[in-house]
Amino acid sequence: MNSEMIIQIIKEVQKAYEANASEIEKLDQAIGDGDHVINMRRGLKAILEIEEELGSLKPGGALNKIAMTLLSSIGGAAGPLFASMFMGMAKVPGSDHMDDSKTVAKMFSSGVELVKQRGKADVGDKTMMDVLIPVSTLFNKLVERSDLSKNEMLRQLMAEAERGMLSTKDIAATKGRASYLGERAKGHIDPGAKSCQLIIFTICDYLMNQEKIR
Ligand code: ADP
Ligand code: MG
Repeated sequence: MNSEMIIQIIKEVQKAYEANASEIEKLDQAIGDGDHVINMRRGLKAILEIEEELGSLKPGGALNKIAMTLLSSIGGAAGPLFASMFMGMAKVPGSDHMDDSKTVAKMFSSGVELVKQRGKADVGDKTMMDVLIPVSTLFNKLVERSDLSKNEMLRQLMAEAERGMLSTKDIAATKGRASYLGERAKGHIDPGAKSCQLIIFTICDYLMNQEKIR
């Protein structure tokens, strides 16, 4: 994978985000302060504004640059959390090449680990971690299997992201703004979990259609 591909993926995510923005906005209006979509849009726009510079960097450098850009462009809880995801991914040796799925899986879990350290949330707190942690665990397991095709692996990751997102619906939040609502947050999917599921879905869908990637 190269930096051009990272930019292409961000563009796909932006498109998918626009198609789902009103649904996600409603979720943050229900259990947050309604700014989650604004935050995500701001971050995506800021990344694409430096598209040219990103294209000139190796993937690891581009991921770090994206992290810095997100830190300075998105406010709220989501900015530093998403920035940590990219920073964690860039830390892994081999992030400049990203040429096999094992490296990408390691990068993903390193990103998730940094988000976890930053936000101190775990599975069951009704946050984006309910999607990120199970997907990261499954991804690292699946790359060890030689009997799976690339597309089968991607399909399983998509399904896991969806399961994680849906699991946030009927629980109370114990981290983030939604935790102020107590039991009243029950019955609503967490907006950050929905965003992460959508992003993972979009990336997997993009990679499924890439012949060049094993
Ligand atoms: P804010 O909460 O500051 O308004 P956003 O609305 O952009 O920021 O993001 C809200 C999302 O951030 C939540 O739906 C949740 O998934 C995620 N989130 C909040 N706090 C944490 C945390 N401590 N760890 C992980 N994710 C969190
Ligand atoms: Mg919010």
